[in-house]
Amino acid sequence: MASRRSILSSILGISLAALLLGAGCQRQSSTTAPGPEPGQKPAQQSAAPAPAPPVSDAAPNELGRVPVLEYHVIGPKEGRWARTPEAFRKDLETLYAHGFRAVSLRDYVTGNINLPRGASPVVFTFDDSTEGQFRYLEKDGQLVIDPDCAVGILEEFNRKHPDFGFKATFYVLPESAFGQPQYRKQKLQYLAEKGLEIGNHTWSHTALKRLSNEKVQEELARPQQAIGEVVPNFRFFSLALPLGISPKEKALASKGAWNGITYEHHAVLLVGSVPAPSPYDKDFDPRAIQRVQATDWPEVKPFQLSAQIKTLVETENRRYVSDGDPNTIAVPAALKDELAPERTQGKEVKIY
Ligand SMILES: [Zn+2]
Repeated sequence: MASRRSILSSILGISLAALLLGAGCQRQSSTTAPGPEPGQKPAQQSAAPAPAPPVSDAAPNELGRVPVLEYHVIGPKEGRWARTPEAFRKDLETLYAHGFRAVSLRDYVTGNINLPRGASPVVFTFDDSTEGQFRYLEKDGQLVIDPDCAVGILEEFNRKHPDFGFKATFYVLPESAFGQPQYRKQKLQYLAEKGLEIGNHTWSHTALKRLSNEKVQEELARPQQAIGEVVPNFRFFSLALPLGISPKEKALASKGAWNGITYEHHAVLLVGSVPAPSPYDKDFDPRAIQRVQATDWPEVKPFQLSAQIKTLVETENRRYVSDGDPNTIAVPAALKDELAPERTQGKEVKIY
């Protein structure tokens, strides 16, 4: 769990002004648009599949922000660090209705966001591998995923809305990994098989700043070894810093070795604040990715999830909206100076 102090320090680093930008902008429709216009060329037989229909009529903005949502406990009581199954389902419904679609953290960080036109990416992350995130139940002699745990809820939502995307990253504490020690191996293997990401959250959830360089590397390499023993060919892609606190030697959060075990994190995540910059934005820093606390707890005002989503969708040019073409980067003219030329990966930039 993160401390109040660490949240406060994250929050203090963020400009409130960003949240308070023009509230009077037009709300964007999220209804599904009809198919191709009359008179449009029919798809050629040998051509690639026709593009998916637009998800909304929101103007493309691939320099907009992306909410990386941070969940902790999924359980019966709402709290500072807890979301009920009902509230989590409601989050999914709200996001879906606003045109958000789940992308993996890896695809966000590498700028591989392949969504239909008018859709906005959202990244789901779960810290601490508590049981409510992934629980097995025995039912009629069969092992089933609890429909009220996060994985069960995500599965069910994707059955109902297959275009939403079954994507999330679980920042696992390797020893306790989702409680139920008898199913630990099965759960980790399930995540890997389904393409859900397993992220590093250290071995013992210690504030890395307090540790020597050697201890930091031990904290980060031991999980690599432990998960690797269960999931073949496993390599971490990302780290969520416990309590959002970096080691003294910051570079060790990204890369290091201990006892012959190496680790490399291509993304390092902080504790919650506001939606993160587009991967093509010059402010994007994969070593310090901001997250949004998935809570409506009164104490975190004005950073509550529902308020942040509202701001994101109602503020002009604020959120990332796909143009439906993964080979181009659609940039509103007002944001063109925010583009980092070295991050465009040779994609064509289209200014609107
Ligand atoms: Zn944690």
